[in-house]
Amino acid sequence: MHKKLFIPGPTEVLPEVLEAQTKPMFGHRMKEASELGTSIINKLKKVLETDQGIIIWTASGSLIMEASVRNSVKKGVLGTICGAFSERWHKMAKANGLPAGKIEVEWGKAIKPEMVDAELATGSYDVLCLTHNETSTGVMNPVEEIADMVHAKYPDVFILVDAVSSLTGVKLDVNSFDVVLTSTQKCVALPPGLSFCTVSDRFFERAKTIEHRGHYTDFLLMKKYIDERGGQTPSTPALSLYNALDFQLDRMLAEGMDNRYKRHSDMAERTRAWIREHFELFPEPGYESQTVSVGKNTKGISVADLNKKLGERGLAIANGYGSKLKEKTFRIAHMGDLQMKDIDELLAAIDDILGH
Ligand SMILES: *Cc1c(COP(=O)(O)O)cnc(C)c1O
Repeated sequence: MHKKLFIPGPTEVLPEVLEAQTKPMFGHRMKEASELGTSIINKLKKVLETDQGIIIWTASGSLIMEASVRNSVKKGVLGTICGAFSERWHKMAKANGLPAGKIEVEWGKAIKPEMVDAELATGSYDVLCLTHNETSTGVMNPVEEIADMVHAKYPDVFILVDAVSSLTGVKLDVNSFDVVLTSTQKCVALPPGLSFCTVSDRFFERAKTIEHRGHYTDFLLMKKYIDERGGQTPSTPALSLYNALDFQLDRMLAEGMDNRYKRHSDMAERTRAWIREHFELFPEPGYESQTVSVGKNTKGISVADLNKKLGERGLAIANGYGSKLKEKTFRIAHMGDLQMKDIDELLAAIDDILGH
């Protein structure tokens, strides 16, 4: 039986969006590929309200995280760790042999501008990595406030943002950052397999001064194909997913981005109210995510058992992330194409199972 997904990725994909993947195939060097690539890039600029460069990779979002540190870091990269995904930035920098430092807060807490300021003041860094929405803890970091501080005090520091579980679900001024990346299987509500990012002009300039950018991970090679071959890519992209993305972007523009953001914050508010009534919220107050709500398992229920029973009703939520938070927390994602009626259906089912 299909389970409706209230997990923070992959998210529920509508039948008509799945259907958009089944168009007949064409060649990735044909005119059709250039037109489709160009169409997607232009729609993404509208959806994200930007004139910055846009690059689409056939890969999950992690690839753009890795590519963006490879294409920018010289002196040092600062990781800002508040959970599993923000830790990944730091691991990637080290795996690529790049000089890397970090600040770290307890899981559930947010990264604040003053913490970043104190570490950047050492002068050891030219790149800063941020995680907009830390999916493992349900914390939304104040990345725009952090960017304001960095622009004022460290204008030469590049800012890379992982917005995998928030972009297109939460309004974010991408023009404040050098790279903002996401994958298709979260708020974009497509199957996994593509990721895309916005890129500042100065980031492209910076990449020109980096000798070993990799090949699949080379921002400049990707840009060259877009510029010279109209939206094509150096290697064969997932064209069926491109069709679905193009279709989904039309749906987003038809809904209206402000309506889309409001739908996400309404679902978040409803879910948080329910968690407060029956459990406690896990994130630091004031920094709760708009796309995934994380509750503390204050009643000592078996989250795995609850999910099994939900599964019998065709619904799925997520357990806490990793060994630190499994069974101690639970996660309810409200992102992508889910509607308030879906949240109502889920919460009523949980109430019924737990005898609330
Ligand atoms: C899911 C997620 C990732 C990983 O994205 P992939 O597309 O699986 O590589 C990274 N960061 C955050 C915040 C996420 O939620």
